[in-house]
Amino acid sequence: MNLKEEIRKIAQLQEIDSRIYDLRQEKEVEWPAQLEKLKNEYEEKKKNFNLLEGKIKSLQVERKSRELDLASKEEAVKKASGQLYQLKTNKEYQIKLTEISSLKADVSVLEEEVLKTFEVIEGVVGQRLKEQTVLSQEEKKYKEEENKISNRIKEIEGDIKGSEDRRNMLVRNVDEQILSKYEKLLKIRFGLAIVPLKSESCGACHLRMTPQTINEIKMYKELVFCGNCVRILYILEDIERW
Ligand SMILES: [Zn+2]
Repeated sequence: MNLKEEIRKIAQLQEIDSRIYDLRQEKEVEWPAQLEKLKNEYEEKKKNFNLLEGKIKSLQVERKSRELDLASKEEAVKKASGQLYQLKTNKEYQIKLTEISSLKADVSVLEEEVLKTFEVIEGVVGQRLKEQTVLSQEEKKYKEEENKISNRIKEIEGDIKGSEDRRNMLVRNVDEQILSKYEKLLKIRFGLAIVPLKSESCGACHLRMTPQTINEIKMYKELVFCGNCVRILYILEDIERW
């Protein structure tokens, strides 16, 4: 086995795997998070709209109850007025008149209240109408974004499939042991298992290499790992010149 040649192959493989890793992140983490955020924003607006609906309902219940109060007071006025002619003494008559006048005052207060409640309901209904327009625009926007995201995810799936096909072709020619080490590292090192040195430091974690380690890498006798992040190291020029 020529180690330099194997390293060149897994470095190529890493390029594809990094792309697959990024695409999966985008598909499984970034877009779902974005969609969740938009969904929550929309649900929040919907919740506020529903609160408005609830407010209108309770105002209508209040109005109904005041109307009933008003009707019963009006009935009481009628009844008391009817009784006026059956009274015997002037004193009784005066008391009844006072009662009627007090009932009439109640009626006028209630009429005032019913009217006010009508005005309040009208205001809230107007507000709801406006909010409804805004909400349906928001819903449309949300659906459009949802569609865009789902289309983008389909594109990503296509890209992943293409990259995986290329990966399967490449993988056939890689030494089994090297491949197994590489794939284990890929899993535990967040999709990055092999990196070139950059100015004599690890290309991933930037740990500076000793001249001895650099010599070991250059010999390509066995795999050399970064002492810090444990990724496989190589020198880009060696692979490119190959
Ligand atoms: Zn490192």
